[in-house]
Amino acid sequence: MQGIGTKCVQGGYTPGNGEPRQIPIVQSTTFKYATGAEMAKLFDLESNGYFYTRLQNPTNDAVAAKIAALEGGTAGMLTSSGQAANFYAVFNIASCGDHVVSSSSIYGGTYNLFAVTMKRMGVDFTFVSPDCSEEELEAAFRPNTKAVFGETIANPALTVLDIEKFAKAAHAHGVPLIVDNTFATPVNCRPFEWGADIVTHSTTKYMDGHGAGVGGAVVDSGKFDWTKYPERFACLCTPDESYHGVTYTERFGLAGAYITKATAQLMRDFGSIQSPQNAFLLNMGLESLHVRMKRHCENGLAVARYLKGSDKVAWVRYPGLEGDEYHALAQKYMPGGTCGVVSFGVKGGREAAERFMGRLKIAAIETHVADARTCCLHPASTTHRQMNDQELADAGVSPDLVRYSCGLEDAGDLIADIEQALA
Ligand SMILES: *Cc1c(COP(=O)(O)O)cnc(C)c1O
Repeated sequence: MQGIGTKCVQGGYTPGNGEPRQIPIVQSTTFKYATGAEMAKLFDLESNGYFYTRLQNPTNDAVAAKIAALEGGTAGMLTSSGQAANFYAVFNIASCGDHVVSSSSIYGGTYNLFAVTMKRMGVDFTFVSPDCSEEELEAAFRPNTKAVFGETIANPALTVLDIEKFAKAAHAHGVPLIVDNTFATPVNCRPFEWGADIVTHSTTKYMDGHGAGVGGAVVDSGKFDWTKYPERFACLCTPDESYHGVTYTERFGLAGAYITKATAQLMRDFGSIQSPQNAFLLNMGLESLHVRMKRHCENGLAVARYLKGSDKVAWVRYPGLEGDEYHALAQKYMPGGTCGVVSFGVKGGREAAERFMGRLKIAAIETHVADARTCCLHPASTTHRQMNDQELADAGVSPDLVRYSCGLEDAGDLIADIEQALA
């Protein structure tokens, strides 16, 4: 079994003799066949191959295979964004009339997708605190619940999900746990090892790592046995008429059923494909993910420690910091490091936060995180501005919260910059 660093560099693509060492960018919408009969087999999922890039492309497949290998999954797919990844991951098994239990401490865009847009599609969500008791979690389930959702480290609240607690509850109700592992990355946490069944990513963040391309990924562990609940997951266990009656679990097994369905149905119909160019750039980011995460975490810890000691700072949240509310969970699930994002409140509240941010010279104000360049954001007035005060509180976002994403610069320079801006 290879180490995570070797998988980052070489996973997903093994060139043959005389073939390119770097993953080739297959910049082609379509693929040529000698006969219509051969192509018909591809359309019916009877043979494996490429015919149209909206469904599959060799560049994307190589990068998806790398991400699947990093997570320890059996199959993966790339999407055009993290939003598309989370939508596909849930909608693949929950549709109109169904229900999903979700942690309330999640990315603002995901909250909106679930609470507004998917609700309009007929999927109901119950949001629970990531810190809820087992009884509270239990009470959130309904007979039509199809999945449980949470974020390993939530953006921007930086709460840590007790993956085992959520997996146990999900499995007791015969549904999978879907974990958005964007902030931890598989370098720091592999949710499948703790009982999660499906993992999603906004590859826009650390995986790309250079602010070059928006993208997402979905990975299946292959461990959830859909066939134990053939009625609940009829979408995977009964014939799909749009593919001449193929039954995904029968034809592709537990290892391939979920991702094949997401590709064959959702990608076919919604078309949120990642461009092969972006997949190539994403792979360049993945090649150094293990090296960069170490530095992001070192900088995060150094900045968090500095902020904790400053009398101009009201509070600091960083799960890697000794004494943090989530430090114990972080030590359990991510002993090697958490992420480079630190949340804190400047004394003086919302206005002080905005003034402080305006004076930073190295950190730029951006709607972005997890980049090589340090950036910061005030979520209450940007990414989470559609939420009311109660929803903000449930999501763990206070009005004074500054989200500070440590890049790969020298920690001393970041701290000096923060010091002059606080002054
Ligand atoms: C950014 C982010 C998303 C959305 O991803 P996009 O690539 O911006 O669509 C989803 N989940 C988390 C945790 C994120 O940080």
